[in-house]
Amino acid sequence: MFDTLLIANRGEIACRVIQSARRLGIRTVAVYSDADAQSRHVALADSAVHIGPSPAQASYLDIERLTDAIRRSGANAVHPGYGFLSENADFAEAVAAAGAVFVGPPPDAIRAMGSKSNAKTIMERAGVPLVPGYHGGNQDPAFLSETAVSIGFPVLIKASAGGGGRGMRRVDSADEFDKALEGAKRESKSAFGDDTMLIEKFVSRPRHIEMQVFADSHGNVVHLFERDCSIQRRHQKVIEEAPAPGINTSVRDAMGAAATAAAKAIGYEGAGTVEFIVEGARVDQPDGFYFMEMNTRLQVEHPVTEMITGVDLVEWQLQVAAGESLPLAQDEIVATGHAVEVRLYAENPARNFMPQTGTLNHLRFPADSAHVRIDTGVREGDAVSMYYDPMIAKVIAWDRDRNSALRRMRTSLAATEVVGLNTNLSFLAAAAAHPSFIAAELETSFIETHLADLVPEAQPASNETLALAALSELLKYEAKATRDSTMSNDPHSPWRFGDAWRAMGSGEIELRFLDDDREVVLRARPDSNGYSVDLAGETTSIRGTLDESGALLAEVNGVRIAATVVGDGAMVQIVAHGHNHRLTRIDPMEAAAAGQALGGKLTAPMPGRIVAVNVADGEKVKAGQSLIVLEAMKMEHIIAAPSDGIVSAVRFAAGDQVNEGDELLAMADS
Ligand code: ADP
Ligand code: ADP
Ligand code: MG
Repeated sequence: MFDTLLIANRGEIACRVIQSARRLGIRTVAVYSDADAQSRHVALADSAVHIGPSPAQASYLDIERLTDAIRRSGANAVHPGYGFLSENADFAEAVAAAGAVFVGPPPDAIRAMGSKSNAKTIMERAGVPLVPGYHGGNQDPAFLSETAVSIGFPVLIKASAGGGGRGMRRVDSADEFDKALEGAKRESKSAFGDDTMLIEKFVSRPRHIEMQVFADSHGNVVHLFERDCSIQRRHQKVIEEAPAPGINTSVRDAMGAAATAAAKAIGYEGAGTVEFIVEGARVDQPDGFYFMEMNTRLQVEHPVTEMITGVDLVEWQLQVAAGESLPLAQDEIVATGHAVEVRLYAENPARNFMPQTGTLNHLRFPADSAHVRIDTGVREGDAVSMYYDPMIAKVIAWDRDRNSALRRMRTSLAATEVVGLNTNLSFLAAAAAHPSFIAAELETSFIETHLADLVPEAQPASNETLALAALSELLKYEAKATRDSTMSNDPHSPWRFGDAWRAMGSGEIELRFLDDDREVVLRARPDSNGYSVDLAGETTSIRGTLDESGALLAEVNGVRIAATVVGDGAMVQIVAHGHNHRLTRIDPMEAAAAGQALGGKLTAPMPGRIVAVNVADGEKVKAGQSLIVLEAMKMEHIIAAPSDGIVSAVRFAAGDQVNEGDELLAMADS
């Protein structure tokens, strides 16, 4: 076995490889770009080498810098992870030239599968079933168009060099073909530097089912069952599971035989995945699946296979790369139970899944156990930058059957908390709870079909959320009052805890929040052991404790609720039952203090963009009323009236960009 392994990757997969290597007593070397200097994979490794600036082209994709890092660190093996250079045969050769072992297949096998057209030619010869289509050398657009007609619509145009769902277009009729071909070619040229296209029949009600294969250098080839990755968005996997629901033993055996034949046909070594597209209506028939492509690396979703087989696939990769034989024969590989994986992304489902960047101000995952596994490359406080994939973590759940595994997944997602940027967490939770998903109605169009259920309209804060928000504010005031009285060292201070509320008048405390653009006013009264607050016309009793980490143990009308409160400036996020709700606190006292210091002028506290102007020139406003909403650093900030008065000038409109210190609005006394 190797004594030093360099991991030519970052993020969760680098962390995951380091963990297996450490368990095997192998020293690990991380590589990192500028943006990753403080990242988790660097902290986990035994040593780390800086390989360049943040853009991947100049660091994680730079073969020369990586081989230099191999030489400098004395690594005798290199794990490429997935993505980046993991399927780059030149890199595999460069690693060997630098005197280390590439943990992956021989360069020729990578090359053979790198081109989808070439791969299909090889598979055809090996007797592996292909999707009807054309994957030859004639790239004349007129010829391709005629071919599409003879295959029959719908068809899929694919980039031969493609990956990650790019360079792909579905075409439903002959008149759309030319334009789609042009678009796919353009995308492929810019993403892969090649625009060779192939055409496939678009399989109806498609399911993506893939086989995990493994081969060693002694001629042994096995498979470790299948994964269903049909839940996709734009041809990219979002949820994966193993085994594939509805697959029977004869289909599994046929698929396993096709996948191992594919691996043998190219002299494969190491971990690989043979992807099949399956006709949804014929999932139980041994001739209902077709070869799509082979990925010559460890796959993102490999943990579901590990959960059902108990095999550490990275350990096997290292053993095979070190020349050892596969630890198990085919009949010794057994699958138990069911595993599901979801990909947690920094993205905003409500805005067409736009990737988000920002800081993970608060991050909690359920504890790892025999049932739950979290693979992540970030910690609380880390940033999701614009340079790399916005995946935050993979949440994997295992149990004895599919329904139990899905229940575990739902509980795990409910215990996951991310504050600081938008994520697809609620979307994933909605998918894991969707009746069609529970009924295993899996198809690659699932997300598109059920989008309205999975990305519901933003809901107003529930009464429970408002109760929790009110309670957390009240507890913060209490803590502050206690601190102030302790600091003043005066046992008779009017700010002494308990008296504080009376000082605010009539024992009633007004709390104001902005919920989206709706203002919510709550009145709370201290009572013997907590507060009463009026919510939707009903008196609700609230009490509890809040610690410094934001853990709120609340009792709402006698029911205990554990929640988390994360604040940042005026923003308060209430996290309970796996749902985040963001409110903005409007604090009349703070607003008044800030306003006085500014003397009637309201200025931008930081550079940003005006989202809303809620008042007009000459309008009478009350202290604490929200005047302007400013979006800065991916958060909304409320500019509130410092006192009662009249707006004498509004200087900006919604959509305007402002600099720090710009006067936003002037006010006169009424
Ligand atoms: P896989 O086939 O392994 O599940 P996908 O097809 O979902 O991967 O993703 C497409 C490609 O995007 C992968 O081949 C990988 O190269 C890249 N990719 C996905 N996620 C990441 C990530 N977190 N970091 C780097 N590359 C990634
Ligand atoms: P990539 O290299 O981008 O992963 P694939 O060939 O693996 O490209 O296809 C990606 C996804 O596109 C598949 O998982 C599947 O959802 C869809 N797809 C590919 N080929 C077909 C087909 N012939 N019919 C229907 N859907 C397909
Ligand atoms: Mg694929």
